[in-house]
Amino acid sequence: MPSFSELSLSKPVLSALNRIGYEQPSPIQAASIPHLLDGKDLLGTAQTGTGKTAAFALPILSKINIKDAQPQALVLTPTRELAIQVAEAFKTYAGDLKGFHVLPIYGGQDIGGQLQKLRRGVHVIVGTPGRVMDHLRRKSLKLDALKTVVLDEGDEMLRMGFIDDVTWILEHTPAARQVALFSATMPRPIRKIADTYLNNPAEIKIEGKATTVASIEQVYWSVSGVNKLDALTRILEVEDFDGVILFVRTKTLTVEVADKLEARGYSAAAINGDMSQQLRERTIKQLKDGQIDILVATDVAARGIDVARISHVVNYDIPYDTEAYVHRIGRTGRAGRSGKAILFVAPRERRLLRAIEKATRQAITAMELPSKEQVNQKRSEQFKASITETLQTQKLEFFHNIVEEYLTESSASAEDLAAALAYMAQKSKPLIVSEGRSRPAETRSKSQHDSADGRREAKHKKDTREPRKAKKIIDETGAEVEMEAFRLAVGYQHGVNPGDIVGAIANEAGVDSAYIGRIELFDDYCIVDLPTGMPKETFQHLKKVRVRQVPLAIEKTSDKTKSKKRKGDSERTAPKPKPKAKAKAKAKKKAPRDKKKPSATKNATKS
Ligand code: AMP
Repeated sequence: MPSFSELSLSKPVLSALNRIGYEQPSPIQAASIPHLLDGKDLLGTAQTGTGKTAAFALPILSKINIKDAQPQALVLTPTRELAIQVAEAFKTYAGDLKGFHVLPIYGGQDIGGQLQKLRRGVHVIVGTPGRVMDHLRRKSLKLDALKTVVLDEGDEMLRMGFIDDVTWILEHTPAARQVALFSATMPRPIRKIADTYLNNPAEIKIEGKATTVASIEQVYWSVSGVNKLDALTRILEVEDFDGVILFVRTKTLTVEVADKLEARGYSAAAINGDMSQQLRERTIKQLKDGQIDILVATDVAARGIDVARISHVVNYDIPYDTEAYVHRIGRTGRAGRSGKAILFVAPRERRLLRAIEKATRQAITAMELPSKEQVNQKRSEQFKASITETLQTQKLEFFHNIVEEYLTESSASAEDLAAALAYMAQKSKPLIVSEGRSRPAETRSKSQHDSADGRREAKHKKDTREPRKAKKIIDETGAEVEMEAFRLAVGYQHGVNPGDIVGAIANEAGVDSAYIGRIELFDDYCIVDLPTGMPKETFQHLKKVRVRQVPLAIEKTSDKTKSKKRKGDSERTAPKPKPKAKAKAKAKKKAPRDKKKPSATKNATKS
């Protein structure tokens, strides 16, 4: 596998990749980038999760002429969500390309704003076919300078009935443009488009070789409702593991996840391609010797690791292809032992899961997250085992004396005393999962989904700017899920409805929609309840996600309350502002909002 720096990508693109922490190109990237940089047409069989977005975005960005603010690349996607996601990816990879503009255009979005931005000049357009056609007909979108067209998820476009639109658009592009067509499958109409519009294309198929990995038990967890780290720690609590390799996609994540696991009491270490060979070897030796139990690794760093005590492989981030999967899970089940592979699959990575199953010719079974009761049970068992071990291995005469003295001096029974000692011994790591901790989501059921929808409120609320408390929800196991209220910077005046918000959060944060609680829409913002403990990276990502072109700019309402308190109330103990002070504060808050109101609509359509 070549490195990114061997792929002739431009300097700003390489520096962005380094900053993001991508360690090496995924197979589809390694195969596609040279052809696309060369100006060749390309036909790629690949699905979401393989890294196909970067496979076309990186070469496009490497060739962009930043001084020419005309559309030089057009990416067609079947859905609005994908258009937004791809445009966001372009922005991320163009982080070091000053003056770069990408514009997502899709139906249902205010056309005025799109026209304005098109007039101002953009380098890359990412759009759904209908709206792109619309702009071409209005002549608000001109493709004279177009160099590359990408058809993303071709089979989905076919399924959604966009094929005629796609061919119409292709007919309206300059003859000399380059075309890249990506599709998870190649049904005949997609083949036909390739035959008609692609010029001697390079064909790339990302399909793993069929391999069987019989001695390894394989399960997957559908990422939903609870953050991956909480899910992971819950799994680790009940799994009987010896050594674990946990795979993530970026160098940055290896360190982040290892640190978080350490903070939660596991002995974990990161291993990635930035580390010297010597340090990597030392870390692997620590795993071998039992000084650490969990190694958080990228594919590159974990290559060739052969440690017999690895009982579990956790695919925290799904691998790009079947081969990588087989390679990863082959780190366990070594030296004649059995092993277990756990795979985290986000909703939109389902296809990759199916592809892995197909290629390995093995079904991967869905697992449920351990329940609180299972965790409590496991903790009790471990506690009992440590009592047995202490009885067998420690000299206890001195403690026998204390116990006997205590029993003669007090009226307590031996059981009372033992229970009190047990309580004291577990205080730093309680045996019972505390109430009020966020409850992980198990697989969702249809009925639960419906009841969750029923919880949502979509009434047009009067804007009081008063933070409200989040409402707990009950999941299908009957357990309470702690929720937190968040404020999003989109509201009625941006034309959003609760469905848009649910869609954006479910897709972008991987939160099962059943775990998205109450949504209250106001004029220019909304409040939504989400399970507590959202990971920082998801939170940061959601800040930038756009709904109707407006960044969500998510913030915790509790943060707002805190800052309000800090400013307004000098006494930490003051529970509520006095009615008068409250009214004053409200009036103060209201004034600038009213002033801002007319321009808020304008802001919503500005990039
Ligand atoms: P895609 O298949 O384009 O939807 O990409 C799936 C995920 O893989 C995205 O979250 C990307 O950020 C991530 N990704 C893409 N390429 C790489 C890479 N070379 N190294 C690490 N992560 C990547």
